[in-house]
Amino acid sequence: MKKKVIVLGATGTIGRNTLSVIDSHSDEFTTDMITAHSRKEELAELAAQYNARTFTTDTETVLREIRESDADIVVNGIAGAAGLLPSFETARSGKRLALANKESIVMAGPLLLEEARRNGCEIIPVDSEHAALFELQKLVPPEQIAEIVITASGGAFRDLPFEELENVTPEQALNHPTWKMGPKITVDSATMANKGLEVIEAVYLFHRSPDLIRVLIHPQSRVHALIRTTEGSFFSQISAPDMRIPIQNALTYPGKSFGSCPDTDLTVADLSFRKPDLRKYPMLPLAYRAAAEGLSATITYNAVNEIAVDAFFRRQLSFFGIARLTEAVLDLPLPATPQTLTEVTAVDAAARSAARRLLENGFS
Ligand code: NAD
Ligand code: MG
Repeated sequence: MKKKVIVLGATGTIGRNTLSVIDSHSDEFTTDMITAHSRKEELAELAAQYNARTFTTDTETVLREIRESDADIVVNGIAGAAGLLPSFETARSGKRLALANKESIVMAGPLLLEEARRNGCEIIPVDSEHAALFELQKLVPPEQIAEIVITASGGAFRDLPFEELENVTPEQALNHPTWKMGPKITVDSATMANKGLEVIEAVYLFHRSPDLIRVLIHPQSRVHALIRTTEGSFFSQISAPDMRIPIQNALTYPGKSFGSCPDTDLTVADLSFRKPDLRKYPMLPLAYRAAAEGLSATITYNAVNEIAVDAFFRRQLSFFGIARLTEAVLDLPLPATPQTLTEVTAVDAAARSAARRLLENGFS
């Protein structure tokens, strides 16, 4: 029996990569529903090209289909906070959740994991670093894990001096050195808010305290994560910077299949690692602060960053303005830790309106 896959955010980078993986494993998987936010014609073309059973841009239909269809796996490739409800609906339905939408975890990690546990839903991370850690934890018993390392490319401005960063443009930020991704996550790579979100994602997914998670810049994007054991060895996962690998692993878990992309050539580049210059990447320490403060802070970090990146695209905020705005809202009194999905959305909405108010009053 072929496994039926629902692909959320099918017109995006993760979505298209997922369709390509399903296509190259058509004896194992078939495309059930595909969804997107807009660009309905493009979605219809993808549905025809990949023989999807159905497609939609309507949120209510998406949630109902997740609930009622007999699909086996939901791949969540939606960008941003809009991915949260579909993740919850998947957890409730007991279908497997192949999760690229890191915002779901950052906003509601403990609640989503609990909902999944109750309903027998397996959450398999697709974010490359967490997919790597998911594989690596099979090799090292939890009590022997001393530290987790996730790598970062350093984004578009990795080699630009600190002094030149204040005036960089959105166009420059979109020029990523190694990964091809959607616009929001590409800017998040340049600020390292993406790595900040991933530190938080690792805290919730792997139940680790933030100070046991380290970020290293690794310009070649081949080593995605490492685990340091208590006796001092490192275990690492190495592959090409190609999202088809973690997507495929999430689909075939716990098994493996033949690869959908070319072999990784380890001789193409020297592999190197260095510490990030935190003056250049203030969003990174802010993520550690949010992770230490708890769920209201991590929701706020994500929400304000989304508003700030949008303002950066509209040239209302400078590059460093993104971190300044995030810090300003984190400095305001935080709401109590949310216990329900409704409370999560309320904290998210409060953070967004606080950020918008500051922007309206000329924050820069
Ligand atoms: P993208 O911008 O390329 O695609 C986003 C998709 O989500 C599109 O299909 C869009 O129609 C849909 N979408 C956007 N807003 C929506 C809304 N309000 N409701 C429903 N659907 C909506 O983004 P991407 O780069 O593919 O990233 C998707 C997610 O995966 C993000 O959470 C990102 O952090 C994560 N991720 C991406 C990569 C990558 O390589 N691109 C790697 C790791 C994690
Ligand atoms: Mg990642």
